[in-house]
Amino acid sequence: MKQQKPETKAIRTQTSRTEQREHSTPLFMTSSFVFDSAEHARALFASEAEGNVYSRYSNPNVDEFIQKMCELEGAEAGVATASGMSAIFSSLAGLLEQGDHVLACRSLFGSSHQILNGILPKWGITYSYGNIDQPEQWESLVQDNTRVLFLETPSNPGLDLIDLEWAGELAEAHNLILVVDNCFATPYLQKPMTFGADIVLHSATKFIDGQGRGIGGVVVGEEKYIEEISFFTRHSGPALSPFNAWMFSKSLETLPVRMDRHCDNALALAAFLEDQPQVEWVKYPFLKSHPQYDLAQKQMKKGGGVVAFNIEGGYNAAKRFLDKLQTLSLSANLGDSRTIATHPASTTHSKLSDEERAVVNITPGMIRIAVGLEAIDDIQSDISQALS
Ligand SMILES: *Cc1c(COP(=O)(O)O)cnc(C)c1O
Repeated sequence: MKQQKPETKAIRTQTSRTEQREHSTPLFMTSSFVFDSAEHARALFASEAEGNVYSRYSNPNVDEFIQKMCELEGAEAGVATASGMSAIFSSLAGLLEQGDHVLACRSLFGSSHQILNGILPKWGITYSYGNIDQPEQWESLVQDNTRVLFLETPSNPGLDLIDLEWAGELAEAHNLILVVDNCFATPYLQKPMTFGADIVLHSATKFIDGQGRGIGGVVVGEEKYIEEISFFTRHSGPALSPFNAWMFSKSLETLPVRMDRHCDNALALAAFLEDQPQVEWVKYPFLKSHPQYDLAQKQMKKGGGVVAFNIEGGYNAAKRFLDKLQTLSLSANLGDSRTIATHPASTTHSKLSDEERAVVNITPGMIRIAVGLEAIDDIQSDISQALS
């Protein structure tokens, strides 16, 4: 049979049926599994037989979710974790040793900064930041002990892009492990491994779940690196619950149709916002006015589900706008079926100083819209009444 498309595999990949002959994968809510005999137990522990032992190590729901993510990202192996942050921490902790150095983009997710500057230094692991708009400087930031290049594209909430092909070449030239947080794009829109990434990780909490129900994470990539990361997770324990794995695995069946709708709504909203007199600028990767529009076309299938804009009148105008919204939710999440408005400067990025925010283009009047799946007319009319 012809090789199936990843979208099909994300639907058809299934844990083996039980004797009930269920069509949809059931929930395997069990902490441990039984052995056939004392000899079977010995063989499983000695890795001479394959099978489940204990749900911190493996579980059918978790394995099905990992397998689907590997199909979608084009990866050999994977590990699932209890949250996006444990996916990031476990990857760095599994791959790095005392004395190593990480080169990261400055526009990382907030808690990723905390791991780099508040946690890893306790074990003698250092870092440097490269600015997203100055790729020419990154080469000089590579040190003899740099082991990992850690990126996020598109960036949150600025929606700037990093050229993944360029990053893959930089990593190759300096023998670095390229780790990409692909949470904003999802594998449906962007496949970092085709540009040379070694590890791709996600907060499954966002578009993978897609309905704002649960927290989880996943890491996929080259087997030799996944082995180091899964040694860390098996023994330090940030295991994904079977329930959340079951939910995420079901969600992946609808990822392409959901992402199409998120992206179509977001592009329409971005174009609408560009025409509003109270809006000073709009940032969306697939808008012609985006400075990296050509790069977006090259490495992404569509522009993603997040739009940023700046409202005239700064923080006070932004607050007034948020308080006037009726349909949209004020929340800190993204990738939900319900559209969410966020003010990054006073919430998700309030820990940064004014100067640090300025470097990553987070202005006092910036609003982030995580565009949901509602009818676009209803999203636009709520924003329109709040603007006026
Ligand atoms: C939300 C998010 C994370 C953290 O994920 P959790 O599931 O909340 O732990 C990491 N990276 C990005 C880009 C995110 O948006």
